[in-house]
Amino acid sequence: MEGSYTADMGDYSIGVDLGGTNLRIAAVDSDGKLLEKLTLGTEVSRGRDFVITEMCNAIQSLRAKYHGSGELVGIGIGVAGFIDMAAGMVMESPNLRDWTSFPVRDEIEKRLATKVILENDANSAAMGEKWLGAAREYDHMAMYTLGTGVGGGLVFNGRLWHGMTGMAGELGHFNIYPDGHPCGCGNHGCLEQYASATAVVRMAREAIARGESAELERLSHDPVQFTARSIYNLALQGDAGAKGIFENVGRALGIGIGAMVNALNLPIYVIGGGVSSAWDAFAPAMFEEMKFRSSIYSLTAPDRVGHAKGTIVTRALLGSDAGLYGAARLPLLEGFLQTETARQ
Ligand SMILES: [Zn+2]
Repeated sequence: MEGSYTADMGDYSIGVDLGGTNLRIAAVDSDGKLLEKLTLGTEVSRGRDFVITEMCNAIQSLRAKYHGSGELVGIGIGVAGFIDMAAGMVMESPNLRDWTSFPVRDEIEKRLATKVILENDANSAAMGEKWLGAAREYDHMAMYTLGTGVGGGLVFNGRLWHGMTGMAGELGHFNIYPDGHPCGCGNHGCLEQYASATAVVRMAREAIARGESAELERLSHDPVQFTARSIYNLALQGDAGAKGIFENVGRALGIGIGAMVNALNLPIYVIGGGVSSAWDAFAPAMFEEMKFRSSIYSLTAPDRVGHAKGTIVTRALLGSDAGLYGAARLPLLEGFLQTETARQ
């Protein structure tokens, strides 16, 4: 689509979503308009140096293409795991084991000679939904991403809330049931153990073991087909066992979000990630639980005070692109910050 953007396109940035399997890259202008999106077939398993080289080559080609029509402000990279924001390093990541203790940000900045911001993937998704998605009208929001695990992100005054060391927003490790299922973090009964895709499949196996659903049992015979999505489809068809699993998801979310409402009284809580497509199956139990667990929610529920003044809990709008847009937003925000500081 060369030539479709005029010379006054202005500043743009590049967002990168470095997932467990795919590397996705998007060039986005400062108004949030997508210029171009690339999905590289890069196998993340081929290791750090290979992935960094592929990423830098793709970014260079985008930069060459849009050279002359705008300025590349910087690059935001969303990565699953704990990030040391100050050092620009991955501290711990489920997918990128050979990335830890390596100065990723500095290496990419050196290769591309532009600003690079490394960010947690759920924080990036929160920023994407705040910028262009379900929370675009709000200054403050919390985001839950229900995927393989449960991620979270907090935006206050339009900026990500990082906490003291950059580790804030781990909403998936809110404790729901103190004696519940063991969590990878070492705790028991975290939200992630009841509201992730992994948890849906586990709870289905538990229901089968209790003899609750012959349909679930039949589904489980094909391990490839036995996914959160197919369990949701079974719930849609009215299977009581499958419906019960998503009621558990809703109750756990209701307890977790209820605690957040009590702590922060935010105007909006956005739920994204793959499991959020099962909204119809878990949302009724979630809303019921929130009213029970949080008097603040019950006093500010939209059905009581109206949508405009109410506490909104809603589905994300950007799907799997939230993190990509959010990552692209980060260097643009930094740019605005510098401009603001320069003006003072
Ligand atoms: Zn945990």
